[in-house]
Amino acid sequence: MGETMSKRLKLHLGGEAEMEERAFTNPFLDYEAAASAALAAGAAEETGSNRPQPTTEELGLPFHNDGKMSDGCWPNTLNTKKMFANEDDSVDRDQLGSIALLYLQLYRVTCDQTYLLRSLDYVKRTLRNLNGRRVTFLCGDAGPLAVGAVVYHKLKSDCESQECIAKLLQLQRSIVSGESELPDELLYGRAGYLYALLYLNTEIGPGTVCESAIREVVSAIIESGKTLSREERKAERCPLLYQWHRKQYVGAAHGMAGIYYMLMQPAAKVDQETLTEMVKPSIDYVRHKKFRSGNYPSSLSNEADRLVHWCHGAPGVIHMLLQASKVFKEEKYLKDAMECSDVIWQRGLLRKGYGICHGTAGNGYSFLSLYHLTQDKKYLYRACKFAEWCLDYGAHGCRIPDRPYSLFEGMAGAIHFLSDVMGPETSQFPAFELGSPQRDEKVQKDD
Ligand SMILES: [Zn+2]
Repeated sequence: MGETMSKRLKLHLGGEAEMEERAFTNPFLDYEAAASAALAAGAAEETGSNRPQPTTEELGLPFHNDGKMSDGCWPNTLNTKKMFANEDDSVDRDQLGSIALLYLQLYRVTCDQTYLLRSLDYVKRTLRNLNGRRVTFLCGDAGPLAVGAVVYHKLKSDCESQECIAKLLQLQRSIVSGESELPDELLYGRAGYLYALLYLNTEIGPGTVCESAIREVVSAIIESGKTLSREERKAERCPLLYQWHRKQYVGAAHGMAGIYYMLMQPAAKVDQETLTEMVKPSIDYVRHKKFRSGNYPSSLSNEADRLVHWCHGAPGVIHMLLQASKVFKEEKYLKDAMECSDVIWQRGLLRKGYGICHGTAGNGYSFLSLYHLTQDKKYLYRACKFAEWCLDYGAHGCRIPDRPYSLFEGMAGAIHFLSDVMGPETSQFPAFELGSPQRDEKVQKDD
């Protein structure tokens, strides 16, 4: 028994050491504890008073109780643009499109025209550098072309906008062709191209990309998933199976969570039968791979509960679960999403840095998305605490990413997240989430 105990203890300590290596211990009180502390402080001051809830101000949140940002009680997060302003020249050429996207975001949250012009500047530079090799929003030509179309549309340069859309649609042939070796995942594959099409229909308006173009890409993704599922004899359990470099990844960047998430977008117009008969059981198959901690493996064959990144682990899978909860209206998806949120809260302040793909900002987005669905302040609180952490950019001794200014690995991503925390009701994970209804209303008002 003694031996069993020590083994168990070793395993336990091993797990903690591993965790410490990857993430910082979260120094913040969680919402309930912060709320009790605020209530206790309030009760000491006003004995006998009946105060059911502490105010957002007492919780140190930069919001009023109605969720609107309060003036001047939080360091203006957009001061972080100063961190960035002098670094423009250090941005890699293949990062230009995502920097254009960041400036477009800063224009959206501030309505300051200079950001739009800045974005245009990057769009022009990036359109001169299209490489013709990759097709996705994030890593290929589709991103610069789609962002270009939106920026030109906002500047009322419809001719240039149409030109970008036409070039984007020219890529489609290689995406739907049956012989194509293209993967289906988000970073380099079909789902990443699909996102570009849906992005245009969300940001410019429905019908910008015709339904038949979207339908063809969607059916290429579905057919590919069915084929692999048959080959692997999983048609019963997981009717849509995907792989990248021969590995069946689970996460949002290279895996099934990202692909199912895209297929469940209303703008993708996947028919109800396919959603119910194909997508839903596949999602449930992934759900059954959940670790006891609430986290998810990086691939179906990986048993190690290690990574809590958007690219691999709960912070990516949570978006699939939230979308499933909206589409299929079953309680279990939201319950699993809340478990993801707890894991991310405990293990999500990553030593890898502050970025979006595998950093604290990307993990913070999971709380914002859960807040959208539940309107529970607990998740807004958690997002704000991760934002607070990101405001101390560089002070925690994190690893410096290979591309320090990039949207997905570095500073641009952290700034994107901070700017979204300022308007949490319309936040969206860049190059992944599509606009919310409130956000669409705002876009229409701007036009
Ligand atoms: Zn990553």
